[in-house]
Amino acid sequence: MHDIWNPWHGCTKRSEGCEHCYMYFLDKIRQQNGAEIYKTKTGFDYPLQRKKDGGFKIKSGELIRVCMASDFFLKEADEWRDDAWEMIRQRKDVKFFLLTKRPERVLENLPKDWGSGFENVMLNVTAENQKRADERIPILLDLPFKHKGVMCAPFIGSVSIEKYLETGQIEQVICGGENYDGARPCNFDWVKSLRAECVKNNVTFCFIETGSVFIKDGKRYFLPKKKLQSEMAFKSGMNFEGGPIEWKLCDNFGLPIPKSELYVPHYRKNCEMCASRLICNGCSDCGKCEKP
Ligand code: SF4
Ligand code: SF4
Repeated sequence: MHDIWNPWHGCTKRSEGCEHCYMYFLDKIRQQNGAEIYKTKTGFDYPLQRKKDGGFKIKSGELIRVCMASDFFLKEADEWRDDAWEMIRQRKDVKFFLLTKRPERVLENLPKDWGSGFENVMLNVTAENQKRADERIPILLDLPFKHKGVMCAPFIGSVSIEKYLETGQIEQVICGGENYDGARPCNFDWVKSLRAECVKNNVTFCFIETGSVFIKDGKRYFLPKKKLQSEMAFKSGMNFEGGPIEWKLCDNFGLPIPKSELYVPHYRKNCEMCASRLICNGCSDCGKCEKP
């Protein structure tokens, strides 16, 4: 995936949302143990990797999701994080999407020159249920970040975040049901209610997938295929584009990069009914979707 940077792999479970962690599930299939935490060999320096023509693999303006097989603020990764921050510092032209279930560890693990936040970093906290929303979002609101978001996935309980949205600090909310072994149901009523709060506050809301078990109008649906889940989420019409997120990307001299030089995502037929399109970095041209 060209939009994911996994500098380390493996994690320890933290809360209800971790119960059926997809990384543990996929590692088990590969006969690995998700609790084994290690620095990745070939992917650690991905933001600085170059193509044969000398240009960076990650283009200016791309959005890169960080640590999707771990947690960026994991204690076990403390010794590697400074190097990761350094790469984020060197790529001020790239948007970095951080997601954590450990916001209480963030402040003590920011770089010394962080100030009020790097312009190219968005911190998201997971709010899989009301308890975790009320625990993590207030911490997020107190943290010095230029961009903040909330991830309600796996969405395993109704969540109301209106009082947090009213602060004007949260720019994006992503929501999606649970997958894989023992997935817990996601109820469409919860999705509608969370969306309504986002619309009221002009905050982008993206319902990316229903999850394997979806409840709508009292009926329970089993949707094992993620593509179908995404299509169902798309067809539900829940996605809402709120106020724009103003990323101030710049080159290494601190000069703003003209819009014309920034990456423009492109999409394929496959993307037409994809619910993630609103927040997606675009097609990577891997060709997989074209194979029968
Ligand atoms: S924090 Fe994320 S990666 Fe870590 S165990 Fe929980 S769900 Fe898995
Ligand atoms: S919009 Fe297209 S590239 Fe993006 S996640 Fe969906 S199918 Fe993939």
